[in-house]
Amino acid sequence: MLTGHDIRHHFLEYFARHGHRIVKSSPVLPPDDTLLFANAGMNQFKDVFTGLETREYTRATSSQKCIRAGGKHNDLDEVGKTARHHTFFEMLGNFSFGDYFKEEAIAFAWELLLREFELPLERLWFTVYEDDDEAFALWKRVGAPEDRILRFGKKENFWQMGDTGPCGPCSEIHYFLGDDPADNLPQHVNGPGDTTVEIWNLVFMQFERSADGTLKPLPKPSVDTGAGLERLASVLQGKKTNYDTDLIFPIIAQIAARAGREYTYDSPDGISMRVIADHARATAFSIADGIYPGNTGRNYVLRKIMRRAIWHGRRLGIETPFLHDITAFVIDHMAVAFPELQTQADVIARVVATEEKLFSSTLAAGRKRLDEAFQHAADGVVAGADVFDLYQTYGLPVDLIAYIAEQRGLRVDEAGFEAALDEERARARESWKGGAAKAVAPAYQAALDGKPTVFRGYDHLTLADLRV
Ligand code: ATP
Ligand code: MG
Ligand code: MG
Ligand code: MG
Repeated sequence: MLTGHDIRHHFLEYFARHGHRIVKSSPVLPPDDTLLFANAGMNQFKDVFTGLETREYTRATSSQKCIRAGGKHNDLDEVGKTARHHTFFEMLGNFSFGDYFKEEAIAFAWELLLREFELPLERLWFTVYEDDDEAFALWKRVGAPEDRILRFGKKENFWQMGDTGPCGPCSEIHYFLGDDPADNLPQHVNGPGDTTVEIWNLVFMQFERSADGTLKPLPKPSVDTGAGLERLASVLQGKKTNYDTDLIFPIIAQIAARAGREYTYDSPDGISMRVIADHARATAFSIADGIYPGNTGRNYVLRKIMRRAIWHGRRLGIETPFLHDITAFVIDHMAVAFPELQTQADVIARVVATEEKLFSSTLAAGRKRLDEAFQHAADGVVAGADVFDLYQTYGLPVDLIAYIAEQRGLRVDEAGFEAALDEERARARESWKGGAAKAVAPAYQAALDGKPTVFRGYDHLTLADLRV
């Protein structure tokens, strides 16, 4: 069996053989604030596509660390529910900066999947942007049967990084994961459920979208592709979900052992274990790249992720701090490919342990109040004032309250919560006018600002500094 590490290696080596420079992943912490986290392999090449920057190579390949938990690409709420979405994942890719275009991009993908990885053609589906007759003809020419090439509109087959930046029509490869050949149908491609999984997106970069929404042609048509390593591993290892691959399953096994419960896919415990496994990866990789849990922006997103994981641990009956053990396992498991995890192992352990300590007391105090709020829910809606109290007094993130409510078949009154929050803000503004600004510990401020500071421990911080 090809391991996840083998697959990454083989992918990069195939493109290196075809004239591509192997480029290291950029950090998940992006260089500017147009993105919360790196969300695709092309991010680090953005300016090369637009012509602002030139490199000594025109072909590149990488395995990029990505986090999709905010902004244009946000899969946080999918984690645990689908077989194929993570917050943190690796995106394998090949890139052409004004070098080759559609013909070679399609030929490379075809050869790698069918000849090198020997995937069965009868399980593959190919999609093209609705009016892209050229891509359609190219797939046919390399050997795809016409009835397996499908046309889709903007939502599926026009890719963009964010609200601005390089973009273009794309062509994708999807794989049928089912057991019954009668189920291998076009309607599952881009459909709901996990019958068919999208494995590789070939983007034909042709435009740059500016802030006012207009599209400007790029200096040269280029190629940007993205294939999820975990998805490719599920397909190549004959697994039904990404979580069953050797990249992730050992983490789930650790969590199951710690909880003393068995892992089954279709169960609330199964969901909790998958969420923790995913979030432990996102946590370890974020902290290694200098993102710490905090109260704003990407730091807050990380805090949400960590607190969700901790909450799921309690749900599984784990009453003592555990997340730092799981992130330690992630470090051991992934450091071969990403040595920065090992270098930052101490920092990761301390930040995770501290966050769990902080959140544990919050959770212990808030749990009873949470149950009360749920019991008081009228017509399945948790009152905005209750949500505000849980947020304000107990420091439970609102999205976590909404998430727990959803799992119990309830929803929260978001408008009511917002109103209570506005009132509180108005009150705070009033009292602010008279008072002096509260000093924030410098290390904590740096973490809030998302600067990759040298971590010096939390010794000089008080619990109050870190509280939501
Ligand atoms: P999906 O439709 O399944 O959400 P996508 O169309 O949003 O995927 P792209 O933006 O095209 O994904 O990204 C390129 C590739 O990255 C995908 O084909 C897939 O293999 C992988 N990928 C995307 N999102 C995730 C994720 N959340 N977890 C794991 N792999 C992902
Ligand atoms: Mg998506
Ligand atoms: Mg898609
Ligand atoms: Mg896609």
